[in-house]
Amino acid sequence: MKIAVFPGSFDPITIGHVDLIKRAQPLFDRIIVAVGVNSTKKTLFSLEQRLEWLHQVFTEYPGIGVDHFENLTAHYCQRIGAHYLLRGLRNGSDFDYEKTISQLNHIVGNGIETLFLIAQPEYSHISSTIVREIIVGGGDPTPFIPEQIKISPTSITT
Ligand code: ADP
Repeated sequence: MKIAVFPGSFDPITIGHVDLIKRAQPLFDRIIVAVGVNSTKKTLFSLEQRLEWLHQVFTEYPGIGVDHFENLTAHYCQRIGAHYLLRGLRNGSDFDYEKTISQLNHIVGNGIETLFLIAQPEYSHISSTIVREIIVGGGDPTPFIPEQIKISPTSITT
């Protein structure tokens, strides 16, 4: 069984993430969308809120699971029997960052391979960071987030 982990903060999930997962679906038997919990990294939304949104978006998708993990991504993959990581590349700075991480994960994870998909042009400008700025600034994030989720100022839980 080919299992891939799509790790991220998903603070919050965007239509860019969803597009990437949809495109990767035919390549794997199962994809686990996993929130990496890093206690030193401050997020706008709580872990519970981010997981709830992921569940809402992916309930309909066959072969997609939602989970979270602490500590190293590579160790989480080994624990659940995933040999692949899935990541997206939007631009050169994503590439520079991801290259190092994937090389490290290959060593730490005993041969884990990271599969990269290039963002489609219509999504390559979308990031959780931009969506957070829009929300905090009082703007409307709906063009950038999946239609199943509703974000209001009261969703800010951290
Ligand atoms: P992290 O905090 O680990 O960067 P993110 O939740 O921001 O996690 O992103 C998770 C993954 O989704 C990353 O590989 C990122 O490159 C990818 N990604 C984010 N936005 C997009 C997008 N608009 N199109 C394609 N991939 C994306």
